[in-house]
Amino acid sequence: MTGIQTSNSKALFERASKSLVGGVNSPVRAFKSVGGNPLFIKKALGAYLYDEDDNRFVDYIGCFGPAILGHSHPMVVKAVSESLENGFCYGASNSKEIELAELVKEAFPNMDKIRFVNSGTEAVMSAIRLARGYTKKNKIVKFAGNYHGHVDALLAEAGSGLATFGLPGSAGVTPHTVQDTLIIPYNDFDAVESIFELEGGNIAGIVLEPVCGNIGVVNPKEGFLEFLREITKKNEALLIFDEVMTGFRNGFGGVQTDYQIKPDITILGKIIGGGMPVGAYGGRSEIMDMVAPLGPVYQAGTLSGNPIAMTCGIATLNILKEEKSYLKASYQVGKLAKNLEVLAEKYNVDLIINTYGSMITPFFSSEYITDYQSALKCDKELFSKFFWKVLNDGSMIPPSQFEAWFVSAAHTEEDTDIILDSAESFFKGLKG
Ligand code: PMP
Repeated sequence: MTGIQTSNSKALFERASKSLVGGVNSPVRAFKSVGGNPLFIKKALGAYLYDEDDNRFVDYIGCFGPAILGHSHPMVVKAVSESLENGFCYGASNSKEIELAELVKEAFPNMDKIRFVNSGTEAVMSAIRLARGYTKKNKIVKFAGNYHGHVDALLAEAGSGLATFGLPGSAGVTPHTVQDTLIIPYNDFDAVESIFELEGGNIAGIVLEPVCGNIGVVNPKEGFLEFLREITKKNEALLIFDEVMTGFRNGFGGVQTDYQIKPDITILGKIIGGGMPVGAYGGRSEIMDMVAPLGPVYQAGTLSGNPIAMTCGIATLNILKEEKSYLKASYQVGKLAKNLEVLAEKYNVDLIINTYGSMITPFFSSEYITDYQSALKCDKELFSKFFWKVLNDGSMIPPSQFEAWFVSAAHTEEDTDIILDSAESFFKGLKG
């Protein structure tokens, strides 16, 4: 990497690689698809990340989703700090769990009852178990390129990290584990119809990202979500919206609010914990009452609902609701999308830009991106060059073409101008 000084991060990565697998705790942080060493961050404030070499970056990773308010919002810091005085976890109920559940229910009226867990992965895993327990059927339909955490049964054609590393699935997942997973292309009405013709009686549910974020942002075709609602109802299968990424992204609600669809189960994570480990699943009472202690579907967690994580989530959602933070973030996304489009046109660069609320992915492609296959055709090499260019100029985007960029309410016009200037200089350089 040229330009910025990164010797402290480099030394830390060498040290990390001796005790942490690949030097990281989550593979997408490893910079593998863009080359070079990952940067080590020592501080995150507002719209900025500060690395161990004291470089400042405008942050478009946003902790891969939770940081919609920007980092370290003073009111969230205050609430969490006060909560620390009262202990970290109790192994017994606390009122913060109720408060966060009530806030989530206000935003997601299709969730009569909620169970909090510690990550999106855990929430998906539990929701799938619940869908099977409730319907007494085994098969789960998932869409290629949708990522639902590292749940064994759903780690096939799972977009995001796997797409970044070119992996079809994960070693260690047995054929037996995935035999009840049916994978079809996203946005493909015919494929959905066919799978129900073939397997209808055995399908417990469809799980999907109603707007995809893990192949980059991909929106549903007109009528697709409505069609899924109808066909699942007809076949007595559950419609499961994984809104871990999209929840609270475009409003005080989710994709289900925007499209007025009522899924049977909703899965949340990321923003609801405000940066602390929180996931949740919930739905109609008759379904959720199948979960222990009321019903036979077992699911538990030592740290679930701990008061600190709940407090962080409550403070985050209250600010989001009162300040309509998603509008501020979405406004900058609109500006970014419009200007990138103009620049791409001016310099004759093939760029397709997809957005949803405060999420955006510019794809280096000439084809519309509507599913996993079309996303895979992007020019990944060009993306890597773009990544390093913008990083050197002071903006940190996710180190993969197959990710959404997350813009926060703390991002300013000036911050957006920084990456637009980098993009212009990059596109101009390609011309020659
Ligand atoms: N579902 C979706 C849609 C996600 O984007 C993610 C994480 N990126 C998960 C589930 C898994 O969440 P976690 O990383 O908290 O386990």
